Amino acid sequence: MQVLITGGAGFIGSHLVDSLLADGHSVTVIDDLSTGRLENLAGCIDNPCLNFIEDSILNKDVFKSLPTNFDIIFHLAAAVGVKYILDNPLASIRTNVHGSENVFSYAHEHKIKILLTSTSEVYGKLEREMLSEDDDRVLGSTSISRWSYSCAKALDEFIAFAYFRTYEVPVIITRLFNTCGPRQVGRYGMVIPRFIRQALRDEPITVYGDGNQIRSFTYVGDTVRALRLLADNENCVGEVFNIGGNEPVSIADLAAQVKQQTKSLSEIKFVSYESAYGKSFEDMKKRVPNIAKIKQFTGFEPRFGLNQILDNTIMHIKEEMNVSAKFE
Ligand code: UDP
Repeated sequence: MQVLITGGAGFIGSHLVDSLLADGHSVTVIDDLSTGRLENLAGCIDNPCLNFIEDSILNKDVFKSLPTNFDIIFHLAAAVGVKYILDNPLASIRTNVHGSENVFSYAHEHKIKILLTSTSEVYGKLEREMLSEDDDRVLGSTSISRWSYSCAKALDEFIAFAYFRTYEVPVIITRLFNTCGPRQVGRYGMVIPRFIRQALRDEPITVYGDGNQIRSFTYVGDTVRALRLLADNENCVGEVFNIGGNEPVSIADLAAQVKQQTKSLSEIKFVSYESAYGKSFEDMKKRVPNIAKIKQFTGFEPRFGLNQILDNTIMHIKEEMNVSAKFE
């Protein structure tokens, strides 16, 4: 297959690149390296089946110079991470809305199947035991920046459905729930790499709020397997799917587990949302996916539990910290 991946130098994108190259596919990556990193592709950058293009999906010209014979586009390029969105509200909206429109327009022009990676953020602060694809969305005020991310990604989903219904572009929409694993960085807010780095340095592990908020973490290897199963299944076209893990944990318990698995001396420190994210911040109390639909369509079930996710990620972050220590 000929595959185009937008955001292929990012955390999830680079694992998808590895997986597709390993199976003998040809992969073109567009990434502006805003949050992606070339080192994520270090293991495959010399592979003749990889074509890396450093550019933004906001640049319409980049699409004019692309081949037109892709079998599928995985559209992952996006502004992500709670902290990144709060720090870069306008740029995030632009990338997530205008950039996506460029990618969909290119897919339409050349009749290419496209898989959109959306997010569990689209559910907003809806409180349910589990979130299902057809559930309502519950959002806060527009004065709270976080919700702009939810709205921009929801608009991407509307755009995808509109191209499907108006022009019969084959689209698949996926909502990712707290993906984590090697190569994820903590600087844009993501909790697992932040906790692990704090624990490995014996610094305080910073739990925001009361720590009772619940998440269900998904190992990146499971996420990539789910994306590929959906992409290869014709019945999934025109549908939206949750992709997530099935082991909910509170953030306070996560901190304790990270401390234990790293054998850290860190204290667990509770920090107010306000001092972490500034005024007017809202968090989701509980975010757990219902993954019955993806299982029904593809047979997908997550293989990695939290224990193993943390072990693998701890090992990787230790290696990264050793490498950077050598250059300090
Ligand atoms: N969180 C935390 N300490 C951190 C970073 C995040 O307690 O240093 C919390 C955050 O407030 C949220 C949860 O961990 O309740 C997951 O945060 P993340 O940004 O990884 O994902 P999301 O909020 O999008 O679920």
